[in-house]
Amino acid sequence: MKRYNLRSALAIRFALLVLAAISVISIVANIMISSEFEEYVEEQQQLEADDIAKNISSQYRSEDGGWNIDYVHGMGMYALEDGFIIKLYDKDENVLWDAEHHDMTLCHEVMQSITILMQEDRPNLDGEFVTHRYNLEQSGAIIGYLDISYYSPYYMNENAFQFITALNRILAAVGGVSLIGAVIMGVLLANSIVKPISKVVEITRKISDGDYDARFKESIRTKELHELVHAVNQMAESLAEQEALRKQLTSDVTHELRTPVANISSYMEMMIDGIMDPTPERLQSCYDELQRLSGLISDLERLHQVENENLVLDKSDVDLRELSQTVMGNFESQLWEKHLDGQVIGDTSIVFVDVGRIQQVITNLVSNAIKYSNDSGVVRVVIEDTKDSGVIHVEDSGIGIPQEDLKRIFERFYRTDKSRNRKTGGAGIGLTIVKTIVQAHDGKISVESEEGKGSRFTIILPKAGSM
Ligand code: ADP
Repeated sequence: MKRYNLRSALAIRFALLVLAAISVISIVANIMISSEFEEYVEEQQQLEADDIAKNISSQYRSEDGGWNIDYVHGMGMYALEDGFIIKLYDKDENVLWDAEHHDMTLCHEVMQSITILMQEDRPNLDGEFVTHRYNLEQSGAIIGYLDISYYSPYYMNENAFQFITALNRILAAVGGVSLIGAVIMGVLLANSIVKPISKVVEITRKISDGDYDARFKESIRTKELHELVHAVNQMAESLAEQEALRKQLTSDVTHELRTPVANISSYMEMMIDGIMDPTPERLQSCYDELQRLSGLISDLERLHQVENENLVLDKSDVDLRELSQTVMGNFESQLWEKHLDGQVIGDTSIVFVDVGRIQQVITNLVSNAIKYSNDSGVVRVVIEDTKDSGVIHVEDSGIGIPQEDLKRIFERFYRTDKSRNRKTGGAGIGLTIVKTIVQAHDGKISVESEEGKGSRFTIILPKAGSM
């Protein structure tokens, strides 16, 4: 398919549009002005003929019934130059003065030149010389007759034709200037559109080549183009984030895997070499590391599930309080081991959620509360029922989270230094899973904590969540 360059396409369309507009305006103007002008010329001609008749009749001498023929002659010749051929009769229709008679050649010359001029310039007019008879009267009595012949319906002299030609030239000049203006405007307009588009194309190419730092920096005044550029910049940003996250994930996973694998390897090696005896404690230690590894793998699996599947929710009406009691029941032995008091209190709250996922959320939070509690203390789930939502608070009286870490604990693999030192710490994925599930339910999660005193996680699940 042949593809047009936007710049020339716009310039050409602009020029064509202006050309069409100018042509229509010129044609209409020309027709209207010409016809008005022709009407005016016709009227003038009529008036002039009337004038001649009036002037001639004033040359009648009433006292002796004679005519001032000299004056008539002067007038006749003068009128001839203007294309009027006159013939004066007395009241008995005897010819007194006749232009043709007087100078036949001149008369024919005038008639011919007028006829030729008009036939050339107005071939459709179908004009010819016609004679109009005027009855000359004085005080109600006929004093004579005047025949005036002129080119009918009208005749235009050189000046009139020049006027029309000048008018057409002006229209053509205006048209030409507008046309050039239109082409320039078209090119400028096209430039203002083409430039940012070309830049966007260049940037998206860079992005597709892996340069995620490419950004469109200039500001654009066209709304749609601005939105396009903004969208491309946003895409670059999110791709850069994704890329960073991917790299981070790889390095974190490697790090998390290396420690237990290294520990197990060195233990095994020494036991094989006979440097160490495979005592039940050492085997237990290896087993614990393997447990950690398998825990990490299942955490990663779960994370993959909630993050990659687009999280299809299988929703039903669930009582949050009952669900929390079930979860707390599952932790009975761990609570007992750490001498912790596990409580579920508060309202009954029915929400429309994916029961398996929300159970996972509560499980992760309660598990953390137990993990990060010292021996003895309270782990409490409080359910609150409001008009629009069900609220779950998971509280503990454990080690708490440093203020500077609060914002980051929901990130993948993020663990506070304190928890790293604990044997019980996980891989830092639990809260990421919690947050992803809560967000999939259009819910909100927040945390308050004080170091050494404990933490309180709050989850708000809307009752009319998305289906
Ligand atoms: P982990 O598997 O390490 O517990 P999480 O994503 O569940 O990972 O939690 C991230 C980090 O947030 C934990 O390593 C810990 O430092 C901190 N944290 C989470 N819950 C608590 C809590 N109840 N008390 C103190 N610290 C917590």
